[in-house]
Amino acid sequence: MAELEGLEFGKSDFVLLDEVTMEQFMENLKLRFEKGRIYTFIGEVVVSVNPYREMDIYGKEVVEAYRGRELYENPPHLFSVADAAYKTMKRRAKDTCIVISGESGAGKTEASKYIMQYIAAITNPSQRAEVESVKNVLLKSNCVLEAFGNAKTNRNNNSSRFGKYMDINFNFNGDPTGGHINNYLLEKVRAWRKVGVEVTMRPVRHADHCLLRGGSEEMLQSLFLQRDPSFYIYTREGASSSVSCSNLRADRSAHKAVLTALKVIGFRAQEIDSIYMILGAILHLGNLEFATDGESVRVTAPQAVENIAILTSTTAADVSKALLFRTVATGGGEVIDKGHSEQEANYGRDAFSKALYERLFSWIVSRINAVIEVKDYNPVLHGKNTVIGVLDIYGFEIFDNNSFEQFCINYCNEKLHQLFIELILRQEQEEYDREGIPWQHIDYCNNQIIVDLVEQPHRGIISILDEACLGVGKVTDVMCLESMDSKLGQHPHYTSRKLSPTDKSLEFQRHFRIRHYAGDVTYSVEGFLEKNKDPLFQDFKRLMFNSTNPVLSEMWPEGRLDITEVTKRPLTAATLFKNSIVALVDKLACKDPYYVRCIKPNEVKSPMLFDDARCRHQVAYLGLLENVRVRRAGFAYRQPYNRFLQRYKMTCEYTWPNHLMESDREAVEAIVKQHDFHDDVEYGHTKLFVRTPRSLFTLEQERAALI
Ligand code: ADP
Ligand code: MG
Repeated sequence: MAELEGLEFGKSDFVLLDEVTMEQFMENLKLRFEKGRIYTFIGEVVVSVNPYREMDIYGKEVVEAYRGRELYENPPHLFSVADAAYKTMKRRAKDTCIVISGESGAGKTEASKYIMQYIAAITNPSQRAEVESVKNVLLKSNCVLEAFGNAKTNRNNNSSRFGKYMDINFNFNGDPTGGHINNYLLEKVRAWRKVGVEVTMRPVRHADHCLLRGGSEEMLQSLFLQRDPSFYIYTREGASSSVSCSNLRADRSAHKAVLTALKVIGFRAQEIDSIYMILGAILHLGNLEFATDGESVRVTAPQAVENIAILTSTTAADVSKALLFRTVATGGGEVIDKGHSEQEANYGRDAFSKALYERLFSWIVSRINAVIEVKDYNPVLHGKNTVIGVLDIYGFEIFDNNSFEQFCINYCNEKLHQLFIELILRQEQEEYDREGIPWQHIDYCNNQIIVDLVEQPHRGIISILDEACLGVGKVTDVMCLESMDSKLGQHPHYTSRKLSPTDKSLEFQRHFRIRHYAGDVTYSVEGFLEKNKDPLFQDFKRLMFNSTNPVLSEMWPEGRLDITEVTKRPLTAATLFKNSIVALVDKLACKDPYYVRCIKPNEVKSPMLFDDARCRHQVAYLGLLENVRVRRAGFAYRQPYNRFLQRYKMTCEYTWPNHLMESDREAVEAIVKQHDFHDDVEYGHTKLFVRTPRSLFTLEQERAALI
């Protein structure tokens, strides 16, 4: 708990609220935001509100102020968390992790960057070259991941379309020696050509945008590209709409920065060329149109096919064939080419360009990982290798229309919440053990039942979805919903229009609702099956595998398979996501966790506006009140005896100006007794534990009256 701030800035720790109510929480949050205090603790958790303006609070002096200090010695800050995670790792040789969550635009990615910068700033005091180079690559990797993983959307100029988990490895000195990045669900750009809302939501990738606007004349020519982003379907949106506000010079330097970062990380020239050739191919692909002449479908602009062939080191004939035909094995084991309908060709093209982008991104991540992987680490020689993990992942999402992506993200948040509760309780328990305090049972909301609703084998929603995707013939989204209704009708956290016909909030036939830990979310089942199946015709995979460009070919290993060998169905999107989240949770579970919860104050990127309704919504969905309650359920407040004395000794005649007792602990006991809250505390080996914050208010008030 931070003490150095006066009460005019509100309470620097939410556990000190008089009562844990939404009203009090919001009042404090708003007051602090308006006073420019964007960070507030909930115990060791930091709640952050995006300031939407440059804050002069990340400089060298601030780093120095937080370095090596205890959490309560300074006002709440990202650096408090970063330092705590670092210190625990170093002092106790424990792996730690920092989980950063919040909605799009809440400031997660910025927070993760400040945390990394802090860690970079406080390590390697002797400036050893090999450590500096690791740090450099770790910091530069952000730039590359952002260029290829981020996009400009209406909600956020720099929106990460992926969740990122980065492990930073440290040697026994506490200096970084390497790292590893995992990415989650790089959001598939939604049905690009559909009419209506989805198109306006289409994010414009930074890499595309910077390439077109910032790339050299020579580079664009070699990729057969025009400079004008509005020429390409995939970049047109950003070129014409409100999200386009960048200037040319900025684009040029952004493009250069990405190129430099790629080089610094160690990408070879041929690899960098290949990356841009793939981007070029994707842009050309987006502009392909099909027409039907009688029975057969053709590409309307053959030149684009030529360009794609050159950029992907394939032949125009092969590209054309993959776009217009599908190889299928007949029942008799015969292999034939089946022509696409125009609709199938459109579908195939979009699936192909999405897959190209995804493969490219995953490959870039794997190349970075190969560079920063810890090599030649010998635990006998070098001591224990420890890790700090930094997770930057979307928080709970609820829109007017919630679809498959929200379903996945919210499931992920259920899992993280479950872990949060588990770990916080474990941490509490460990501290009580260390301090020799009897264990107190803490009552909390267990969300296992909701996690099961989604992931349970055979009966959970993901299983039902997968089953529907396996179904031969036409299984529709609605049929899948019916199957869910019949299997989950009794589940207390599941309902649908059919099951609750009188429920006003379930307006449409295609909706189902999950009662999440943080509240109810209604999902539209429309598109679930297609997004889950996410099929890409094998022909495209083979086309890419057969590319004479080894970099590209390497991205598509399964293209090696012949059609008759492709018998196993690929795992569905939901199952892949589930597996990756289960693996993530396993990774986090063995670490000491620290949390940053980010809140977006308004929808218009304003530094002035605190939109009450929007913030309240986020506080609810982040489960922050519950967070405060869990934290207060045991002991709201704890502090080492000497620190407690320092602060409150003037409130007691036996301790002012100095006590004459045997130990600090006894002196603290004197203060506690004088103020009459002996029943509200436990005395640990080194710390005082106070159950309710009220006891502390009395003390604080008295202290304030004296100074
Ligand atoms: P998220 O990753 O949660 O979607 P970002 O971290 O990309 O959000 O933040 C969105 C934008 O908000 C940033 O581009 C920046 O302009 C602003 N922002 C976020 N955090 C801060 C901060 N601490 N100081 C100043 N501006 C910030
Ligand atoms: Mg982000």
